[in-house]
Amino acid sequence: MTRSRSRSEEGSNEGVTAQYYHVVCHDCRVESLEVDAEDARNMADRHDEKTGHSVTVGRL
Ligand SMILES: [Zn+2]
Repeated sequence: MTRSRSRSEEGSNEGVTAQYYHVVCHDCRVESLEVDAEDARNMADRHDEKTGHSVTVGRL
């Protein structure tokens, strides 16, 4: 009886790491968590345009 040593590893799912973008306003209490970089940027831009506040997007 031969024992197969080939084991299929299903634990390796590379590239599926979730990336979050934290949008924070420094001039008011607005903050948001986005999964899309573009969404985060749009949100920051819009808030900045509307209020003139300084908004930063940080990657988590
Ligand atoms: Zn603000």
